[in-house]
Amino acid sequence: MSEEKEPLNFIEQIIEDDLKTSHSKDTLCFRFPPEPNGYLHIGHASSISLNFGLGLRYNAPVNLRFDDTNPAKEEQRFVEAIKRDIEWLGFEWAQECYASDYFQQLYDWAIVLINNGKAYVDSQSSDAIAEQKGTPIKEGVNSPFRNRSVEVNLALFEQMKTGEAPEGLHVLRAKINMTSTNMLMRDPIIYRTLHKSHHRTGTDWKIFPMYDWTHGESDYIEQVSHSFCTLEFLPHRELYDWFLDEVVVSEKLRPKQREFARRNLSHTVVSKRKLARLVENGVVASWDDPRMPTISGLRRRGYTPASIRNFAEGIGVGKRDNLIDVSRLEFSIREDLNKVADRVMAVLDPVKVIITNFPEEKTEWLDAENNQEDENAGFRKLPFSRELYIEKEDFREEANKKFFRLKLGKEVRLKNAYIIKAESCVKDGDGNVTEIHCTYDPESRSGSGTDASMRKVKGTLHWVSIKDALEIEVRRYDRLFIDPSPDTHKDKDFMEFVNPNSLDIITGYGEPSLSELQVEDKVQFQRIGYFTVDKDSTLDKKVFNRTVGLRDSWTKIDQ
Ligand code: ATP
Ligand code: MG
Repeated sequence: MSEEKEPLNFIEQIIEDDLKTSHSKDTLCFRFPPEPNGYLHIGHASSISLNFGLGLRYNAPVNLRFDDTNPAKEEQRFVEAIKRDIEWLGFEWAQECYASDYFQQLYDWAIVLINNGKAYVDSQSSDAIAEQKGTPIKEGVNSPFRNRSVEVNLALFEQMKTGEAPEGLHVLRAKINMTSTNMLMRDPIIYRTLHKSHHRTGTDWKIFPMYDWTHGESDYIEQVSHSFCTLEFLPHRELYDWFLDEVVVSEKLRPKQREFARRNLSHTVVSKRKLARLVENGVVASWDDPRMPTISGLRRRGYTPASIRNFAEGIGVGKRDNLIDVSRLEFSIREDLNKVADRVMAVLDPVKVIITNFPEEKTEWLDAENNQEDENAGFRKLPFSRELYIEKEDFREEANKKFFRLKLGKEVRLKNAYIIKAESCVKDGDGNVTEIHCTYDPESRSGSGTDASMRKVKGTLHWVSIKDALEIEVRRYDRLFIDPSPDTHKDKDFMEFVNPNSLDIITGYGEPSLSELQVEDKVQFQRIGYFTVDKDSTLDKKVFNRTVGLRDSWTKIDQ
């Protein structure tokens, strides 16, 4: 692979350095640790690409670890969706792991902490605990329960565990340092009680470990060598290490936490919690709504796994958070679909063309090339008849020289077919053109080899034969938010920036070959954009999602 030549990113540099000093190649192990409280989004694709990419590069295992310690938020359907998305992206995990599988081990270690005087049960209200925590410029205050005896702590922790103690009455805290400059080290909570059913452990456990206590110890249990997380966890590293100090035995590998920058995408939000609000409030229809920046939403929109992987690899890993313009993601899918999508014709805003010198009952079947970018894509048959649709905007009665489409008295080529000339048009009472009467040159058929077929005319239009056309539903999507960074406004909620016009549903007319397409098949509607067949399609009606236009229609507006 070409990777050898590319300069190492800082994460790879960390691993290379460790390979020279502390680690051997066969001890490398990585993990991707989603919380099953929503669907994966495009930000996760960066983390997936990083961790699974390292696995491939170093031929090391990568575990999929569900960080499932909060039964109030997590659900089995999210576990399924996350697995489906990672597989679809084309990555393979070594082991499917669950933090909940480690509840017993984590509990046993908590008992060790208590026995060693490193943890205590606090019975204050959460407000009191927060109050005593202090601020970055004000030292914290010790809890009045900090010096409970080991026996009392063990007894109370047991009551937490069995559910004898009411929910929320006690918490278990690590006894570290209430005056630490790192707020996270001020006796962090490691267990809380929740009397809720967990999607895997049911009601077996009434105590649930907190993130910091769970994550590093899970890494240790799985013998993950490098635990990569996003930058907001940098201050957690000290705590990660403190917890490991309490449990690591010398013969075993000690995991390392390192941080990289979160990737944000413009005109959307990448946080499961915020995406959940969009679903709950009906702004979008579902987690896989094609407007969502979720992997499932992008898939339904028509994105390919390669386009998402290329996008994530292209932006790479960084040390500073930044906002990636969504046009970069759109570029990535255009680039991929240009190579693989067959070209077909559909008219989305039709006006009728009548070829007055073409016989009324006749249908002529023309050969049309599927994809000029792909030699192996072959040809298909396309019906041509007396009555056709073209786009309304492709005709004007009069226009200046720069209008290369159809105008009265002038010629254009119909793609894959003949040269036609507009002779006259019919209008309704409001002056709208309802029919364009044209003549065609029977000698000018594309690819027929005649002189007339080689004749150069300025414009080429797409069209469909009306009697053969397939009526289709077309869903045109726009950005979900009108603001590039909707969740960064201090005094405004991101929901205020939702684009009210992010979905436009119209009826279009496609060439008959569209009836053969299956859900998720992708095509280019020539001169319009890339479209994919939606799962809402029925036997009677195909539904097409606009994946992306042929060009970036926003660049001009943004400038
Ligand atoms: P969210 O706010 O969407 O829930 P999270 O970080 O809480 O994000 P997790 O399910 O805990 O979600 O994330 C799994 C992994 O993906 C973590 O290692 C996290 O750091 C990483 N990750 C999440 N969002 C991004 C992002 N925008 N860019 C890069 N990595 C991300
Ligand atoms: Mg999280």
